[in-house]
Amino acid sequence: MLAMLALPAIAARAVELKNATITEAGGHTVFEADVSAPVSFSVTAQEKPSQVEIDLPRLTFNLPRGAGREVAGSISSWRYGAGDKGKARIVLSTKTPVVISASTLVPPANGKPAHLKIDLVVTTRQGFAETKALETGSITPASPKPAAAKLVIALDPGHGGVDPGASSNTGTREKDVVLAFADALRTALEATSRYTVVMTRQGDKFIKLEDRVQYARDHKADLFIAIHADTLDEAEVRGTTLYTESDKASDAVAEAMAQKENRADILTGMDLGKQSEDVANVLINLAQKESRSQAMLFAKKAVNEIRPVTELTSKPIRSAAFVVLKAPDVPSVLVELGYLSNKADEAMLLSPQWRSKMAAAMTAAIDGYFSPSLSAALK
Ligand code: ZN
Repeated sequence: MLAMLALPAIAARAVELKNATITEAGGHTVFEADVSAPVSFSVTAQEKPSQVEIDLPRLTFNLPRGAGREVAGSISSWRYGAGDKGKARIVLSTKTPVVISASTLVPPANGKPAHLKIDLVVTTRQGFAETKALETGSITPASPKPAAAKLVIALDPGHGGVDPGASSNTGTREKDVVLAFADALRTALEATSRYTVVMTRQGDKFIKLEDRVQYARDHKADLFIAIHADTLDEAEVRGTTLYTESDKASDAVAEAMAQKENRADILTGMDLGKQSEDVANVLINLAQKESRSQAMLFAKKAVNEIRPVTELTSKPIRSAAFVVLKAPDVPSVLVELGYLSNKADEAMLLSPQWRSKMAAAMTAAIDGYFSPSLSAALK
């Protein structure tokens, strides 16, 4: 009951709410209002009727007459008044179900008063149901990713165009099998309705490594997966390996792999050596550290999920300095699906059945990475 010991002096001082505004941009409708002192609050979205309730402690509304008729975006009208037990409540009526993308009390700063900021995103009834659990708006900081927005997965099928990548004795080309797998993975991910999938290439096209990274960043990808296959002199070696980015290769195999995969840009005359150095200097920061540890977390989940459907190499998680994994703010992994120099792996890479099993396992890994509880519920 410690919470009951509120400081009476502060509680007695009337908090004032004024300057309410509603703005709409990029699919987000934002309700904001100044408050004369920081307050705790809670926000709930309802589907029937479609509305958002903001519960506040007792305060004084200092709003012009007709304030509730000033609307924009998904808010069709709003009202305010006394709520339960002398508390205050603002109700935002919305045209369709919405979810709360962010609800924050921005502290006073630079002479500006504290203000309440509620960011709403239109959703479907199904989307509403799926995100309901997330709608416990409180005085938590704004989430960097709107809860309503689908997670963005960037798939990067390696090579393409003038760069065929690795080839088997019989002429199976890496650029073709990795694109086929990326297509299968895209289908599996989209079937869940949980993800927006973007692909760095959809046809047989050459794309520079830096452009692949930039593409993922431009699309604000939540996860970047580069897809490759390899060849080795040792025809008996087979299996899948996941790579994460590191300035220091985990071993000689990983180092050699990174050098091979990074070579793509030399085909178009790019001075990769210089570029990597510049990129490396800029990118050594906290964001990258975080992205790397997230990538490692995903790699571990992925290995667990794919183990039943594919062979794994003796060391299925390795790290090295891959150019395509350099995005500082996007957790990135590179999957070497298998070896075209191995007959069994080649057959596997050419098999639509294997592709769909592998795509399902990767999807489970992605579900598990983003929402451990979700993947448990789906099992
Ligand atoms: Zn490759």
